[in-house]
Amino acid sequence: MSKRCGRCGTTLEQFYSTSLLGCENCYRAFAEELAPLLKKLHGVTVHAGKTPKVGGIERQLLCEYETLLEEKEAAMLGGDFDKANDLGEEIRQLYFELARRGLK
Ligand SMILES: [Zn+2]
Repeated sequence: MSKRCGRCGTTLEQFYSTSLLGCENCYRAFAEELAPLLKKLHGVTVHAGKTPKVGGIERQLLCEYETLLEEKEAAMLGGDFDKANDLGEEIRQLYFELARRGLK
């Protein structure tokens, strides 16, 4: 018997085959299974706590980078892989820009 979201009825198998979550409760229902997935997507981010001391444009770049990562994650979970691809490209460019400035 597969795990199932109590609210919309999406099963874990359905999620794996379509990468689509039915509702926001699915995040909670499949938290265990989603965690490693999200971690993989977030592999390169350094979240609060070890933020480099930067200001102005550099902080903006970092902020934008984080935002893009979150948007990409949302797009992937929503099954919008075209959008995730586009965002991935932007993220890559931004990453190089950050690396060039020694922030990544
Ligand atoms: Zn659900």
